[in-house]
Amino acid sequence: MALETWHELHERLGLQALGYRKVLYCELFCVRCGDWRGVLEQEADMYKCPSCQRPSKISIICEKAFTRQPEIPWERIAKPLSPTFRKLIMMNNAFDEGYQRRPTKQPDRHRRKARAVAAAVMAD
Ligand SMILES: [Zn+2]
Repeated sequence: MALETWHELHERLGLQALGYRKVLYCELFCVRCGDWRGVLEQEADMYKCPSCQRPSKISIICEKAFTRQPEIPWERIAKPLSPTFRKLIMMNNAFDEGYQRRPTKQPDRHRRKARAVAAAVMAD
């Protein structure tokens, strides 16, 4: 798991003071039942399908989710996330990591060339 920054630590401690705890918001893929969404208290070596208990793969969507609920039921994601579920967890900077694309810097060689051409045209 990635190290917390000072800011994140403070934020987490503040939320914990309000009764929130940090959970992993993730998707679970069961070969028999399909895809689920839910939260895990922590990372583990093995994950089981909430319905059939088969070992399943998961993918963590958000490492910085917080909830006050003692238990959050898994939801099948064939249907969209229900408003109830959305109310149960609170996302914290869910997608600010990895989704930030740096503006690609254009090499200005072409611009310079264009300027040179323009200058040549002016000179004629
Ligand atoms: Zn299953």
